[in-house]
Amino acid sequence: MANNQKKTNGDMPNAHLHELFVDELRDILGAEKQLLKGLKKMAGKANKETLKSAFEEHLSQTEGHVERLKQVFDSVGLTARGKKCKAMEGLLNEADEIIEEFEDGEVLDAALIAAAQKVEHYEIASYGCLVSYAKLMEHAEAEELLNQTLNEEKETDVKLTEIAMSEANVVQ
Ligand code: FE
Ligand code: FE
Repeated sequence: MANNQKKTNGDMPNAHLHELFVDELRDILGAEKQLLKGLKKMAGKANKETLKSAFEEHLSQTEGHVERLKQVFDSVGLTARGKKCKAMEGLLNEADEIIEEFEDGEVLDAALIAAAQKVEHYEIASYGCLVSYAKLMEHAEAEELLNQTLNEEKETDVKLTEIAMSEANVVQ
């Protein structure tokens, strides 16, 4: 790819965004890696088969998100390196708390969906910003890759709402 080399500030529009872009990429790479463990746990705890398989499917998508982020780093000539995401750490700590609190109750699946949707919204915000930065700096390949993941996060969020409304949150 032609843009496999890091563009110099001279020919990159909105170069002032570069450091922020890289920092946010590192944050979300860390977050995605942390989430792998969280989703495994949520899949293990879910009662309804539909919810369990939704978590499992998103777990394998999340593995793809990690790989895709590596491609994004590569597309701008950088080595992929994540950093610990404190927000994801907090969201997953809260997920653990909510699991403990509702473990034996009938609302566990509803609680798991709430925790998972908070995670998805964090990711949607992160990828949404990253797509904008990539677009403004004309990193076309990075923009395309980040947008693919953004769409998968949004689809997951919608799917979780559907599961909540059709079975997990209603008395059957
Ligand atoms: Fe993700
Ligand atoms: Fe996600």
